[in-house]
Amino acid sequence: MTFSSETNTAPPIVLSDGNVIPQLGFGVFQVPDDDVFAAVTTALEVGYRSIDTAAIYGNEEGTGRAIRESGLTRDEIYVTTKLWNSEQGYDSTLRAFDASIAKLGLDYLDLYLIHWPVAAADRFIDTFRAFQALKSQGRIKSIGVSNFTVAHLQRLIAETGEIPAVNQIELHPRLAQRELREFHAANGIATEAWSPLGQGTVLDDSTITAVAAAVGRTAAQVIIRWHLQLGNVVIPKSVTPSRIAENFDVFDFELTPEQMNAISALDSGSRVGPDPESFTLGLIN
Ligand code: NDP
Repeated sequence: MTFSSETNTAPPIVLSDGNVIPQLGFGVFQVPDDDVFAAVTTALEVGYRSIDTAAIYGNEEGTGRAIRESGLTRDEIYVTTKLWNSEQGYDSTLRAFDASIAKLGLDYLDLYLIHWPVAAADRFIDTFRAFQALKSQGRIKSIGVSNFTVAHLQRLIAETGEIPAVNQIELHPRLAQRELREFHAANGIATEAWSPLGQGTVLDDSTITAVAAAVGRTAAQVIIRWHLQLGNVVIPKSVTPSRIAENFDVFDFELTPEQMNAISALDSGSRVGPDPESFTLGLIN
C-alpha cells in the first residue's frame, strides 16, 4: 500500500513480511451494517487509512461500500477482516475468505486474521495453512491471528513454519499484556490492540484524567498516545463523528516517560472481553 494521502498522519509499522500497516486504524465491532457506511466514511475523511472488520460483525458489506465509494484508491486503504470460529478448517476457510471478499467487494485483503484460536477445535493449523495458500495466490497481503496466547503462537510457528505478521489482542491500560508483547517483540510479530479504550471503561480512571488535564488533551487521546508510544497498532472504534476525529488527532503531542509509566501501572489483568483460553463461541464439533 502507499501512504501518499496528505491527510494520513498515522505512521506506518513495518511487518515481518515487509508489508506496512498504519499504526492507528478504525475498528467497527458492534456497528450495525446500516450505520457502518457513515462511520467508515467519516473515518476516511478524517484521515484514517486502516479499517478493521470481521465476518462475525455482520458489517463487511457496508464497510466495503464505504471503502469503494471513498474516492481513495484501493492501495491507499488497509483492510483487515477476520475468519469466524465456525469456519475454521482448510476448505471452510477458503470458502469463508471468498464470502468475506465478496461482501467487501474487494479483490484482495491487506490482512486476514484467525479471529480466535478455539484450541478445543484443534483446527487453527489447517486454517493458517489455507491462509498461506491464499497469500501465495496474492489474495491476502499479510496473514495473522487474533487472541492467540504464547502457547498457541509457539505451536502455530512450529507446525506451519511461518510467523504470523500480527496478533490482535485485547490490550488497554488495565490489561497491558506484557508477556505477549515481549514474545511478539522477540519474534517479529506486530501487537495490535483491540478494545484499546477498554470499550470506554478506562476513560474515567483518575490517573488517565490527571494525565489528560496535564497535557490538555482528552482521556481517549491520552490512551491512544500511550498505545502509539508503546509501539502497538491501535484500532479505536466510535460511531460518533466528533470522537472519530478526536481519536485521530494524536500526532502533535507526546507523553513523558513518567506519564507512560503511570498509565502502565494501571495494569490489573482485567479483561473487558472473553478469555482466549476458553472462548469457543461458534465451535461446531
Ligand atoms: P474501544 O476500546 O475502541 O471502545 C469503543 C467505545 O468507546 C465505544 O463505546 C465508543 O463510543 C467509545 N469511545 C470511542 N472514542 C471515544 C472518545 N473519544 N470519548 C469517549 N468515548 C469514546 O472498543 P472496541 O471493543 O470497539 O475495540 C476497538 C476495535 O477492536 C473493534 O471495533 C474491533 O475492530 C476490534 N476488536 C477485535 C476483537 C477481536 O477479538 N479481535 C474484539 C473486540 C474488538 P461511541 O461508538 O458511542 O462513540
